[in-house]
Amino acid sequence: MKGSLKSSHFSDFLQPSQIIFNLKAKDKIQAIEELLDVLVKQKLVENKKLVLTRIIDRERLESTGLGHNVALPHARVDTEGEIAIAVGKSKGGISFDSIDGKKVHLIILIVWNPSLPGLFNHLFAGLAKFLRYSRFRQRVFGSKNKSELRGVLSEISLSFPQEDTIISRASLLMKLQEIEKKKKRAKKEQRKKLKEQANLIRQELDEALVARYDRLMERYGFAVAEVDVGVCQGCNINVATGLSSAIEGSNDIYVCENCGKFMVASKNKEK
Ligand SMILES: [Zn+2]
Repeated sequence: MKGSLKSSHFSDFLQPSQIIFNLKAKDKIQAIEELLDVLVKQKLVENKKLVLTRIIDRERLESTGLGHNVALPHARVDTEGEIAIAVGKSKGGISFDSIDGKKVHLIILIVWNPSLPGLFNHLFAGLAKFLRYSRFRQRVFGSKNKSELRGVLSEISLSFPQEDTIISRASLLMKLQEIEKKKKRAKKEQRKKLKEQANLIRQELDEALVARYDRLMERYGFAVAEVDVGVCQGCNINVATGLSSAIEGSNDIYVCENCGKFMVASKNKEK
């Protein structure tokens, strides 16, 4: 049903029964299972085993721990439903292999259907945008009960990010480039596995983004360039100071005004 694309608030996808205020889980897999059980119980997910496998495969590719104590594990599954979400809060925190190494206190699990590819990106961008604000996160973590938590999360409105910024996907796009470069040199057997990994990433990135990526790859042999000391490594030209500092330390994707390639923060800087 196309209608759900018009939904403008996260709460449209989140009933109180889909929230666990105190997760019992002590580790990542347990937490994912605990949240999946909620979706099974609500009849939003049928094949728990399949979905669990998909989510774990996706986590192996790259942790969905966004940093700042938040994780957004997800899987794309061909089911009847549209999108199924479960939210869990953990007081003690759960290790999630997050970028910043911090334990996770809020997990938003998303199972989505490929028939509505735009919806997932819409949702992901909206969540990432709100959860990057520390004051918002503090209200989420400080909520006293389930209805208070749902109340805070309901403020999240869903919108597409700005054209030149794609939120929280830079490392994933970089990974796609690495995998596809490796694939070119790989032996036949390894190539199949790399193709599967690349498809996993392609499926969850925005269609327009992937189309642009493919055009750049075809033209230049690479599409994603690091920004090193304020210089786009795709064209060796200085990036505007404000933009450069915005890119630094973020996982957002920007587009170089000069060469049109995607720019991501230099990996060396992270260490
Ligand atoms: Zn450039």
